[in-house]
This record gives sequence, C-alpha cells and structure tokens, in this order.
Amino acid sequence: MQQTKRMFTPWEALDVILAHVRRLPSEEVSLLEAVGRVLAEPIVAPEDHPPFPAATMDGYAVIHDDTSPWREIIGEQFAGHVTEVTVTPGTAVRITTGAPLPPGADAIVPVEEVEVVDDHIVIRRDDVRPGENVRPVGVDIRRGELVLPEGTLLGAAEIGLLASLGVSRVSVSRRPRVSILSTGDELVDPDAPLGPGQIRDSNRFMLVAAARQAGAEVVWAGRGPDDVERLTALLRERVTESDVVVSSGGVSVGERDLISAALRTLGTVHIERLFMKPGKPFHFVTAGTTLLFGLPGNPVSALVGFEIFVATALRAMTGQRPVEPETVTVVLEHEVQPADRIEYQRAIVRCDADGVLRVRTTGPQGSARLLSAVGANAYLVVPPRAEPYRVGEQLSAILRGPVRGSAPQP
Ligand code: AMP
Ligand code: MG
Repeated sequence: MQQTKRMFTPWEALDVILAHVRRLPSEEVSLLEAVGRVLAEPIVAPEDHPPFPAATMDGYAVIHDDTSPWREIIGEQFAGHVTEVTVTPGTAVRITTGAPLPPGADAIVPVEEVEVVDDHIVIRRDDVRPGENVRPVGVDIRRGELVLPEGTLLGAAEIGLLASLGVSRVSVSRRPRVSILSTGDELVDPDAPLGPGQIRDSNRFMLVAAARQAGAEVVWAGRGPDDVERLTALLRERVTESDVVVSSGGVSVGERDLISAALRTLGTVHIERLFMKPGKPFHFVTAGTTLLFGLPGNPVSALVGFEIFVATALRAMTGQRPVEPETVTVVLEHEVQPADRIEYQRAIVRCDADGVLRVRTTGPQGSARLLSAVGANAYLVVPPRAEPYRVGEQLSAILRGPVRGSAPQP
C-alpha cells in the first residue's frame, strides 16, 4: 500500500538516527595510534604534575627572607639531575628551568636580576617573594583528578597531556567500518575518458574522503549499475562487514526508486524524505546493527547529507561528545532568499573585530555545484518564509571548519 512519505526536519531525522545507533566496542592502542580516536574510558591522573617543585626560570634558588647582602653559589641544579646541596642563609644554587628546587630554597631569582661576582651573587632587588618562579607539586594536575572524560576526541594537546601523566596506552572506540557505493549507469572513474552522456563519479571519492575525515575506516568503496537486483546484492554483501553503508544516487523518482527498493529488501526503512534542501530524497535504514544511508546523487546533496547525518551517527557510534553538529548564531551580510524547505546554504562565517560572527554565502547554490562547498566553513540554515532575509538579520549556521577573523580587541 502506497503511503504518503513523511517529511522529517533535519532535527527530527537526527533524533531518529541517534536512537538507532549502537556504541562500538573499544580497543587498547598506544599513544600515537590514538590520534584522532575517541576515548572509551575516563582518564584520571595517576600522579601529580609536576611531580616535584620545579623552576620555571633559569636563575638562582634562594631563601626568600634571607637578609644576607650577597650569597655564595654552593652548587648547580640542572633539569634531570638532582644535587645533594641544601640552600642555607647566605647561599644560593644555580638552577635551570625544569630542575627541582633544592632543599632549603623557597624561591628562584631569575638570572637577569642578579649580578654574579666571582663565586657569589648579589640580587638587584630586595623583595624576593616566597614561591617565586617555582611550580609547586601538583599545581597543574592533582593525582586522582579527572583530566579527560570518556568521549574525548584525542588531538595533539590530549596526547601530550596523556604522555605527561605517564599514560602510554589508552582504550579508544574501534573505528566505524564504512562502505561507500556510487550508483548510476552514467558514471565513470576520474581517470577514464568521458563517453557521450557520461559524468565522472565524484561522489565515491568525496564520500571516502568525508568518511576518513570523520575518523572511519573505509572497508570498501565501489560502484553499482542502475539495476535493483544487482544493487541489492552489492549492498547485502556490504552490510555484513560494515557498521555503516552509504550509497549515493538512484533516489530520484525518475529512476523508479532504485535505492529505495534495494534498501527496503535489506532492512527497516525509517526515513525516506527530508524537509530539507539540498537532499530531500534521503534514506535511513537499519539492517541488524548496520546503519544504511541512501544519499541523493547530486554531489552537494550527498556531501550535506553525509556531513550532517552520517558524520553525526559516526560520532555517536564512537561515543564522541558533543555529538550534535556545532551551531553558532550569525549575522547576514547580504540578503538571503529562502526556499520552500529548510535550506543548508554553503557559506563563509567570519569573526569580525567587534566579536560578531558575520556570514556570506558562496555564490550559486545549485546542488550539483561542488564549488559552493569549497572553502565554505559553514552551512547557513535558512528556514522557509514568505519574504527574503534582510542584511543584519540573525540565523543559525552549522560549522564545518574553523572560523577565521580578527579577535575582538579588549
Ligand atoms: P540520482 O540521485 O541518481 O538521480 O542523481 C542525481 C544527479 O546526480 C544526476 O545528475 C547524476 O548524474 C548525479 N550523480 C549521481 N551519482 C553521482 C556520482 N557518484 N558522482 C557525481 N554525480 C553523480
Ligand atoms: Mg542515478
């Protein structure tokens, strides 16, 4: 029986998708294998950092309220080497950045602020403060402190932090296994000559790239013909070895709903259409624990569908937080014409010196024009309404890259 297909808003669709995601198992990896991975366990500091009171400057370790007019240099304390000398009134120990404060001393006077005469120093000022230029034990991190919650995406700072705490192996979520399928009799590879009526299969490469950027392992990528039986067979093979299967093309009504028919035989169809532009034809299907996404063939539609829905599902599978796409409020720099559905216009968000995020779109917004997404750091979310959005009005934008611009002046 033919039912009217329900149109889901992008937010409703995300809720439906997230409700069907299952967390992937975890695996233990070494520190450098963990880059770009998602922590599957909270990290609690196993030790204090720094582990000893450490010099933050090159200088002389002294007693702060020592009234001696000059102090004898009784030893040297270099980073990584511990001397036995104890600082007493009238003495000082030469010390380098990162070295432990010698016993007896409670302050470090920087080398620029002392005069060295033979084997003693004269401090050029009289107010040495206790603890000056010394990092106390545990001042940065206390043993037992939660430093990285589960769900943290591990980048350079996090890897450095783990190393500083002596953590050399971590438990991370397994990478999602993703298969990518292009469909269409008109498609040829980028290195093949173009025959009459043929176009290049850009989606396969774009979606493999997008999946890798999202931290997935692409286990298979290929192309299928406009034939339901063969597409169904291809997809069925992929389902068993993939956490996620993404197809593009074959969704327009003109193509007799090829992908729709293939997907329906494989699993449960949850979504078939979105109240969204580009990308109205959009399939979300589950087959066991595997998620299948049927994206439209137009390259921009496929890209938007991947970045908004598939990438969010991938984050959820690994437990990455926050899971939702990153959204900011932006001010329009030019008039924007709304469509009859929620439109995701490719745009550039910039931070101005007044601290305001301003946005302009990237030229013609045709769903085949991939150039509109090149250099775009955002999708400007334009809800339908009768009149155009005016300069200065505020809308939401979903960030897909870093925002550049001048930082607000204090
Ligand atoms: P479809 O969703 O199959 O009806 O495709 C819609 C439009 O996208 C058509 O113009 C297709 O030629 C084009 N298209 C489909 N698949 C791809 C692909 N893999 N790479 C580039 N363009 C595609
Ligand atoms: Mg097609």
